[in-house]
Amino acid sequence: MAEKWQPVIDYSKCTKCGYCIDLCANAVFDRSKSPEPVVKYPGNCIEGCQYCGVMCASNAINYFDGVNEYKCKCNHFCIGCG
Ligand code: SF4
Ligand code: SF4
Repeated sequence: MAEKWQPVIDYSKCTKCGYCIDLCANAVFDRSKSPEPVVKYPGNCIEGCQYCGVMCASNAINYFDGVNEYKCKCNHFCIGCG
């Protein structure tokens, strides 16, 4: 079970463009699987960051905080992850 904030990929929407893998500066995704986004190092994800979800043109990324899953509702608006 996931323990902390991390992206959850909706593979029914994902077009495997690989953009989220390239833009994440924290090596959350498994680059060897690119362009398919596979969350390999969820511990690297920054609490509250929704950058990859904001930038995904297919709206295919939601977030899990260890308890609940959240829809990324901020398409086209950066919330500022720091
Ligand atoms: S940016 Fe979106 S569509 Fe592209 S690989 Fe990531 S989740 Fe899939
Ligand atoms: S939410 Fe931020 S830190 Fe986490 S995978 Fe996406 S871009 Fe990387």
